[in-house]
This record gives sequence, structure tokens and C-alpha cells, in this order.
Amino acid sequence: MPRSAETGKGKPYLVGMSRAELAHWLEMLGESPQAAWLRARQLFHWLYARGASTPAAMTSLPKDLRRVIEENADVARPGIVAEQTAADGTRKWLLRLRDGKEVETVFIPEDDRAALCVSTQVGCSLSCKFCHTGTMRLARNLTAGEILAQILVVRDVLGDWPSPREGRRLTNVVIMGMGEPLLNYREVAAAFRIVIDGEGIGISRRRITLSTSGVVPRIEPWGRELGTGLAISLHAVRDDLRDELVPINRKWPIAELLDACRRYPVRRPVTFEYVMLRGVNDSDADARELVRLLRGLAAKVNLIPFNSWPGAPFRCSTPERIRSFASIVEAAGYPSPVRSPRGRDILAACGQLKTALARPVPTAVPPADAAVREPSPAPLSV
Ligand code: SAH
Ligand code: SF4
Repeated sequence: MPRSAETGKGKPYLVGMSRAELAHWLEMLGESPQAAWLRARQLFHWLYARGASTPAAMTSLPKDLRRVIEENADVARPGIVAEQTAADGTRKWLLRLRDGKEVETVFIPEDDRAALCVSTQVGCSLSCKFCHTGTMRLARNLTAGEILAQILVVRDVLGDWPSPREGRRLTNVVIMGMGEPLLNYREVAAAFRIVIDGEGIGISRRRITLSTSGVVPRIEPWGRELGTGLAISLHAVRDDLRDELVPINRKWPIAELLDACRRYPVRRPVTFEYVMLRGVNDSDADARELVRLLRGLAAKVNLIPFNSWPGAPFRCSTPERIRSFASIVEAAGYPSPVRSPRGRDILAACGQLKTALARPVPTAVPPADAAVREPSPAPLSV
């Protein structure tokens, strides 16, 4: 049952609901169980495959039902507060949610594909030392609807809804925006079940990658349930340094993290992300230790030149140092591309996302109430 229907707080946000949740909601509005299922399937298709942002656009639904939806639910997009385009074509949007909080989403076009980098939390609770998002506190988790809405908004802007002639522009999704996705497991999983659903958003799990700083107990369940690619924010090869740079390491150290990667139930190389910090983690000895740690794992190493932000306490390694590090890793048989920073000039590159925590907007509607979902995996204290 949609929580808002229980509490009476605002209209439920239908974006983010599964077919079963939509059917349940329609039954609550008086549809028979059989009709509710039929209509839920149609509604699902309109919301996610066709991108309808008003009930009026859902022309295969009876007029009466469209009116009922209009009166009892919300399907609107979050507002676009700001949009920036970088010199390299990367685009970043700042979106305002129903409670006035804001998140960023980043579109990264390449020659033959284009990825959207979605956010999963407003802020982040983990405070990695090199990350701009980590300097914000965690304001709250995003709902499944707010995660999906990032894709829907960008498809609107790009005119990327199905047409008989053209392929889609947005082809890939990386879960690498603001926040730690595995600390918002339930909503991120609900959203991505709809993303990979052929009758929903319809992006194959092979074109999706989740990046985590290392919430070890949730890595394997994610692989089993969603089956997407996995990226690990490693950044250091010794626990004493990783404890400092990526503090979640104190709870789940490197050996446990690598064990979880070995057990990841998806037949795709795991990507290890390694931010190059001058004089901190970028020596040849570090590269050799990295190779030793990865032994036996199908892996790829993404070397990320450190993207600076106002007040950042690090500098990026020199190009020669990065080349030397990469050649050691390559020589051991692990591809180690140096990721070219995208959208640095508009603070859209990895680790640069940060929004001012919006003050409450007096006229704001209460937060979107997500439908009741499968229980989360066991609670974690981090
Ligand atoms: N919270 C998740 C996903 C978001 S961060 C995670 O940590 O994996 C996406 C990637 O950008 C991570 O690998 C992160 O470590 C990296 N990153 C963070 N700050 C960065 C910076 N200033 N320069 C380059 N990469 C950074
Ligand atoms: Fe959070 Fe990832 Fe940034 Fe660490 S790197 S603070 S986990 S968003």
C-alpha cells in the first residue's frame, strides 16, 4: 500500500512503483483485481517506456481513469534548477525534489554510446577525503522514483523517447553520482529493476555499472538480484592508508572487499577505480602491490586523475607518474586506462558533485512517498 495513502500526506508519486505496486494502488482506488493488473501494465508502459509525464498523455487508458490518476497521484518530473554544458559536451543538471532538496545528474556522451551518471543520495555519509560529495552531510536517501526521474528528465531533454526510426541516445547508466548506492539498497534496487525491465526503461544490465566504496555485505546480493557490472572505489592498497582515504575501510578492510569481488556472481571483469593522488598512493610500489592484490581476479583498473574542487587537500599525480603506474599494472595483464576527466570545467567530473543543501522551501510538497517495498537487507551500522 502506498505509504501516502496511509498517512494522507501528499499524493503518491507513481514513478518508482513496480507493476504490483501500481496494481495495488489502483485496487485501493476501487478497480477490480483483474482490471487493476491490466491497467497497471499499461500505466507501467506509459511511465517508463513511453515517458508520459501527465495522465492526459496516456491515451490508451480510459478517460475516467486518467482523471482519477490526475486527482489522486503525481507523475510529474522534478524541476530543472540549472543546466550546464562543458566544453567536452558533458552536461549536468541540478534537479529540485518535492521537498526542495537538490541532486545532480551528469550526461557523458562518447562516440558510440552515452552514459548517465545517476545520484542515489542527497549528500553522502561516508566522507572519503578526496571527494567533494563527501564534504556534504547526508541529507537523505533518494526514493526509487527520484532515482528513475533522473533518467526520465534527461530523456525528455534529449528527446530520447522511442521513435520508429532512431536508436536511443542514452545507452548506459553508471551509478556513480552523489551518494553510496549500497547504503540505499532498497530504493536503488527497486529503481534498477525497472531500468533493466524490457517493458520499463529497457536498458540492459550489461550497460549498467554500480560503483561502491565497499559496503561488503551488500555486494553479492546486488549481483544476484540486479546482475549489473561492478566497480569498486579502491584508491589504496594498504589498510592504513585506505582507512584514511576511504573510512568505510575501517569496517570492511581490503581483504574482505576483495573476497566479496571474487564471489560477485556476474561474469564480467570487476572495475577497480583508483584516484591518482600525488605522493599519496601513486608510487611504483603501490602499483606492484595492487597487482599482487588482484591476482586471480578478472579485473580492470580505471586510473582516475584526481579532480580538484575548492579547498581540496590533494593534488593530482603528474602525468609521468600516472604513466609509470599504469605500465606496471598493464604489464601484469590488467587493462588500466587512464580515465579522461569529463566535464571538469563545470564541476561535473568524478567526485566533484556537491549541491548546496537547500533550505526548506515553505511551499514545498512533502517528500515523494515511495510504495512499500521488499524489506531491505539486514540493517548495517556504518
Ligand atoms: N559512492 C560511490 C559512487 C560515487 S563516487 C563510490 O564511492 O564508489 C564515483 C567515483 O568517483 C568513485 O570511484 C570515487 O571514489 C571517485 N571520486 C571521488 N572523488 C573524486 C575526485 N575528487 N577525483 C576523482 N575521482 C573521485
Ligand atoms: Fe560517498 Fe563515494 Fe564520495 Fe566516498 S567517494 S564520499 S562513498 S560519494
